[in-house]
Amino acid sequence: MGGGWTGDQAPQGVSPSLLPEFCDVCLPVPLDRVFTYALPLTLRHRVQRGARVIVPFGPRKLTGVVLSLRERYEERSRDVIRLLDESPVFDDHLIALAQWIASYYAAPLGEVFRVMAPLAGEVGKRRSYRLTPAGVDAVRQLTLGTGESGDTSIEILRLLESRNLSETTLAKSVPKAAQILRSLIAKGMVAAEDDPAQRDPLRSPANRLEVEFQARSEEKMPKRQRELLAFLELHPGSHRLDELEEKMAGAAASARALARQNLAQIRLIQPTIRQYAAKGGVVANAHQETALAAICTAIAAGGFTTFLAHGVTGSGKTEVYLRAIDATLNAGKSALLLVPEIALTPAVASQFAARFGDRVAILHSAFNDTERAAQWRRIQSGEVRVAIGTRSAVFAPMQNLGLLIVDEEHDGSYKQEETPRYNGRDVAVLRGQMLSACVLLGSATPSLESRHNAETGRYRLLELPERIEKRPMPMVELVDMRTEFLETRKNSVFSRRLVEAVQNRLIAGEQVMLLMNRRGFSSFVTCRACGERVMCANCAVTLTFHRRDRRLLCHYCNYAEKVPSRCPSCDSEYLQFVGTGSERVEDELHQHFPAARIARMDRDTVSGKHAHEEILQAFRDREYDILVGTQMIAKGHDIPNVTFVGIVNADIGLGMPDFRAAERTFQLLIQASGRAGRGETPGSVLIQTLNPDHYAIRLAGAQDYGLFYEKEIQFRRLMRYPPFSAMANVLVRHETKEEARLMAAAVESLLNPVPEGLRVMGPGEAPVPRLKREYRFQLLLKSASRRTLSEHLLRIRKHALEAKWPATALIIDVDPMSLL
Ligand code: ADP
Ligand code: ZN
Ligand code: ZN
Repeated sequence: MGGGWTGDQAPQGVSPSLLPEFCDVCLPVPLDRVFTYALPLTLRHRVQRGARVIVPFGPRKLTGVVLSLRERYEERSRDVIRLLDESPVFDDHLIALAQWIASYYAAPLGEVFRVMAPLAGEVGKRRSYRLTPAGVDAVRQLTLGTGESGDTSIEILRLLESRNLSETTLAKSVPKAAQILRSLIAKGMVAAEDDPAQRDPLRSPANRLEVEFQARSEEKMPKRQRELLAFLELHPGSHRLDELEEKMAGAAASARALARQNLAQIRLIQPTIRQYAAKGGVVANAHQETALAAICTAIAAGGFTTFLAHGVTGSGKTEVYLRAIDATLNAGKSALLLVPEIALTPAVASQFAARFGDRVAILHSAFNDTERAAQWRRIQSGEVRVAIGTRSAVFAPMQNLGLLIVDEEHDGSYKQEETPRYNGRDVAVLRGQMLSACVLLGSATPSLESRHNAETGRYRLLELPERIEKRPMPMVELVDMRTEFLETRKNSVFSRRLVEAVQNRLIAGEQVMLLMNRRGFSSFVTCRACGERVMCANCAVTLTFHRRDRRLLCHYCNYAEKVPSRCPSCDSEYLQFVGTGSERVEDELHQHFPAARIARMDRDTVSGKHAHEEILQAFRDREYDILVGTQMIAKGHDIPNVTFVGIVNADIGLGMPDFRAAERTFQLLIQASGRAGRGETPGSVLIQTLNPDHYAIRLAGAQDYGLFYEKEIQFRRLMRYPPFSAMANVLVRHETKEEARLMAAAVESLLNPVPEGLRVMGPGEAPVPRLKREYRFQLLLKSASRRTLSEHLLRIRKHALEAKWPATALIIDVDPMSLL
């Protein structure tokens, strides 16, 4: 990266010869370098480090981030097309953070910038299509040959020959253009590309805009506009366009016309959240007080400290967060709270809105791009001093950040499972360190890494060992399903104990949650004649039977097929449906409890933006007696009337070929159990298992985190798994098995002889050896030194670039959460 000027050093009003004439731009491409572009005269005064620009890149246009400005550049360079930001989007801190993430996670810097700022909403995209070299060849051959007309795909190729066109344009002259385009793309003759174009807020839909009076005018204008302007003048303040439109037809169009003449102002509506009544005046209990005292002292002192608040389920961690945020605001600083993906419900958001009013921004993935961009701008302006959001909110451009909180810090959803594969929790800790801010991690089941950091003194441990108001922890009972089978000779989903327990709670008018951590009806279909299982066409994975739509579905790639009537490999008709999913649990519940009102929450029932919240709210409002679901139901929900939690099959997940399998099982069981008995009535939990002696299940039954930690940390130490090593999963994938194998071998030979300080496991087939039509091989790298690990990851990436591997062929996952 060249040095040179930074934007704020550029002096104003000096002779033009001293202005920067070039800039180095970081682009969202998998290359580890910046690209230098020339600045047109009109931009030289305005471009600053950290601003985004649109630049040409090959035949494409890309949005990049300016990293430095320079006066001279020897080689020829193309011009910057457009400047998107008059003031920088990324300040020096965010740029440094991005650079750290790029190097720690072995990811291209441009990709990091792309996920850091959700500003895509400000840049409208126009997708157009162009011929690839293969497409150009095809057109040429057709022109030479007879060129039979009437074939629509030829027509499309010819239309694209002269210039790139959008689908809409193509559709006007060619029937079924969309479908043909897809097949031409699949054949490699046509490629899609997105042209960034600045989006005009006036083009947003009416329900996202509000209008306000700006100026009077004596000019002549159409009657509707004149009436609307008069109305706006008489009714000061902002009015939603869609509401105006309801009152007077054509109002939205008139408002836009007025705005273009600068007579009215149109703005995007700030997203709002449903308001719930604030819980007033709770008095913090002794444990909460002790924790708060430590946090507040650290906030007042300034400086970097990381706390781990280890509090049992229902111990009132949220109240601690709220008060810590208060203290931060009082110290004149701002605060950021991260919550797991599924836990950011309106109920949670409103607790914060009630407390902090319009100083709070909610960064929710359900918001669209435009809304998110608007939030980002509010935060950057310093108007917002508290932000709550999921993983990517860790990048929110808070001003004067004093506190970063990560709730349920162990949660897997903090890890991004695509490039850059960062962990939001770890980025929060790093950001705290860079800014000398406080970091507060909270969980009832801290990750082994975090608890270990607390043991070794890197984090300060705060314990909340009791539930609020000394409510008892739930009583947990294990049911051995092997004995159950021997005694009943029936392979039923529910044990007799579970049926009885649910019955009693229903009679008492209480609510029940049942966890079945697998969706679908049965888990797979097998042939009784030859033993084959029905597999996905694209993945080395069995298909799951979903009864509602009578299909077999792949949970990895969404491939679906009809239920076969005969075995695909031996043609026998004896197919058997094996195993249980949440759909079957719901079904059997209806048989056991015909009068009960049952809701199901899993990825099949939760598809729309708000479906998940609606089901939960209806359950909270007691419209249902029983809620069945996957791990979605286990996360953080506080529903006081739930007194019983049943875990139908605790063993799913234990068999995963992953060193975190036991930890994840333990966490899920404790978190699910924690939903019971949060109100006045004590709760109970029943765990059905085939492995009652496995330590993860036994200790979840005993609700003993301490013992689990000791056992698990021994195993990690012995095997040199994290936290005793830095680890990375290096995965290569290709459509042909041979290529994939060769790439894995190439990585292996890079690491042969095995370098000092590194341990290499593999290469071997990945636990899912084929996924979405690609064969996968992986190597696990471990090292006691993070630096050693990073160095070798960099070498591997370099090799992939030099050997011109396809951009998606190599996946490097640092601190992997899942090894699939
Ligand atoms: P956790 O996140 O630790 O599982 P919550 O923060 O959800 O627990 O708190 C559980 C319940 O206790 C919530 O309804 C919360 O409003 C309530 N609560 C928290 N602190 C107090 C307190 N000091 N006194 C009374 N109720 C409290
Ligand atoms: Zn068969
Ligand atoms: Zn599949």
